[in-house]
Amino acid sequence: MTRIGVVALQGDFCEHLDMLAMLGWQGVAVKQPGQLEGLDGLILPGGESTTQCLLLEASDLRIPVEAEIHAGLPVLGTCAGLIMLARTVVGGRLDQWSFGALDVSVIRNGFGRQVRSFEADLAVQGLGETMRAVFIRAPAITEVGEKVNTLASVGYRFADGSVRDVPAVVAQGSIVATSFHPEVSRDPRLHELAFRR
Ligand code: GLN
Repeated sequence: MTRIGVVALQGDFCEHLDMLAMLGWQGVAVKQPGQLEGLDGLILPGGESTTQCLLLEASDLRIPVEAEIHAGLPVLGTCAGLIMLARTVVGGRLDQWSFGALDVSVIRNGFGRQVRSFEADLAVQGLGETMRAVFIRAPAITEVGEKVNTLASVGYRFADGSVRDVPAVVAQGSIVATSFHPEVSRDPRLHELAFRR
């Protein structure tokens, strides 16, 4: 049976565990290093990346999770999880760190504050029908490296009136990351994409 861990320190890890159950997979709430054993994949959920940084260190998960990511364990990062994976994080706290495994640059809260949270229908490469995407104080991806595939973008009107296409689903090697919350719209196709490749 497919066994997927969800880092369960902060944020909406419960919704991810529900999605895994919906897919008939075993979800493991990962709160300590021993729980990383025997996983087929790992989810870094949305929430607050600053808090997640502190809790990953306090729970001794930072180093073993980093090792699993670099060893090629399939990973899905959503929203704050994308921030945790990014090479460069703009607008973070001074002591904020990231795993740096995904060659993208992100701006925290890059679409504006909470009141500018929004939803959009996205065409994701390889997924057929569009997917409802919920963006909540989402990071905006501003740069993608050569090895990164952009699987979906969102057209967004920024506060200054300019409309730009911003990558919203990206993939690099064994990593898939989204700036929105697929677990909130309860559409399991991205989870399948991340762990059935
Ligand atoms: N703004 C949050 C952060 O910086 C991410 C928001 C989210 O995960 N919905 O971590």
